[in-house]
Amino acid sequence: MLGGCGSMNAMIYIRGNRVDYNDWAAEGADGWAYEDVLPLFTRSENNEQFSNAFHGRGGPLNVTQVRDVDPVSHALVDAAASIGIPRNDDFNGERQEGTGQFQVTHRNGMRWSTAEGFLRPVRRRATVTVRTGAQVTRIVLEGDRASGIELKAGQKLERISCSGDVILCAGAFNTPALLQHSGIGPAEHLRAIGIEPLVDLPAVGNHLMEHPIAYTNYELAGKRQGLFDAEDPKHLIKWLLRRRGKLTSNIGETGTHIRTDPAMPGPNFQLLFSPAYFMEHGLQSWDAPAASIVASFIAPESRGSVRVRSADPLRKPAVQLNMLSTDTEMQQMVDAIELAREIAAAAQTAGVLGAEMNPGPAVRTREEITAWLRANAQHTYHPACTARIGSETDGVLDPQLRVHDVQGLRVADTSIMPTIIRGNTMAPAVMIGERCAELIRAPHSSNEMPAPALAAADSGLLT
Ligand SMILES: Cc1cc2nc3c(=O)[nH]c(=O)nc-3n(C[C@H](O)[C@H](O)[C@H](O)COP(=O)(O)OP(=O)(O)OC[C@H]3O[C@@H](n4cnc5c(N)ncnc54)[C@H](O)[C@@H]3O)c2cc1C
Repeated sequence: MLGGCGSMNAMIYIRGNRVDYNDWAAEGADGWAYEDVLPLFTRSENNEQFSNAFHGRGGPLNVTQVRDVDPVSHALVDAAASIGIPRNDDFNGERQEGTGQFQVTHRNGMRWSTAEGFLRPVRRRATVTVRTGAQVTRIVLEGDRASGIELKAGQKLERISCSGDVILCAGAFNTPALLQHSGIGPAEHLRAIGIEPLVDLPAVGNHLMEHPIAYTNYELAGKRQGLFDAEDPKHLIKWLLRRRGKLTSNIGETGTHIRTDPAMPGPNFQLLFSPAYFMEHGLQSWDAPAASIVASFIAPESRGSVRVRSADPLRKPAVQLNMLSTDTEMQQMVDAIELAREIAAAAQTAGVLGAEMNPGPAVRTREEITAWLRANAQHTYHPACTARIGSETDGVLDPQLRVHDVQGLRVADTSIMPTIIRGNTMAPAVMIGERCAELIRAPHSSNEMPAPALAAADSGLLT
């Protein structure tokens, strides 16, 4: 599948919070403050709803709202508003906090992936070659310069050389794994598993950050169906004929960004409202209409790691998420579950929700919630920071996305984030791609960030 996780994700378009980027810059990521990255976000965007200083029109990435939001999703926004959470029409605008409808990467009632938006228009260009069914096994280094890559297609090992920069964008698990397989990483570990260390960079694969998540579930009251009957052929017909109805849903249609402590610099939770039963990544099901209020912890501190376990590049790396390893994080997670329950109680009073299934009536005290979270919290598919911008001791890249001590090698994916942002990670991944495109156009030795981003129409990305 082309397009990476953006071709299978929940399509929520969120950039995070301005404090995230200002923190990056304050920690040394020059050129990555909010005002620096905002033009990169707007440049790639074609927002169907908003046209203002925070949003772009004419870019390759289509952003809109789910067409036919389920009444249950709206009712949960009303319930949140009824307990004092302010409404917010645009989580990517002036402020992120509040409750409302998510923006999504959709077009005409369908997913609009980066493969659709960016790749398809240029795929036939003579300068573009797309290889599928091939796995990159390492970056080839000649001295301290990246001179190309090696890939495996079937049984065949091929080498592709490169006179410009090699751009590594294999995602937050596979980017550090590929660096390590190429001899770039913690020397001691590499030696121990039989890989010759070429560049000793201890932080490759460190600082893995994720958003812990927990799902609360409720039955729907009355005759409400939510998405329970979405597989009925009548909804398929509606979608096929008009691209409308339940099959246009991204499941997490509305939600809230809140801080559980007003002293915090930004929201620490995203609550997602879904008109469906959602538990254990969708592996569990429920035999009646249901809704979910899902708490995603968007400002965690815990760090994990990604380490290759053998010299065989086809073996998967070991991923240690290490989430919720501090008590403060766990306490915030419990606060969020209590808040989710408050919103649910308002929706029960309004006659929208019925009984709670998860955590369930047996889980009441903070201690019981903690134990339930230890058994049921999950990850949100937002891994980041494993090849982060930072110094040579605690980072992998300079702010121009160049790997320390290696010439001609840059990284452009969520692994570059110094710390994880307060939101879903696809919009920032696209923004990072925009920045990388600017950088590779700039003169090679430049240590300056390029001049303000070009408008989408001038960027050459649109044909
Ligand atoms: C189920 C799910 C739901 C999500 N929901 C949302 C959401 O609603 N909103 C949101 O903003 N984010 C969401 N995310 C996260 C978001 O999609 C990712 O953070 C983002 O797409 C990451 O982009 P990336 O470019 O860093 O990495 P990826 O999208 O992982 O891209 C890496 C690419 O590299 C390829 N690759 C890796 N290793 C190799 C190799 N050795 N050789 C060749 N190719 C290789 C992969 O096949 C892939 O195409 C979700 C993710 C998942 C999985």
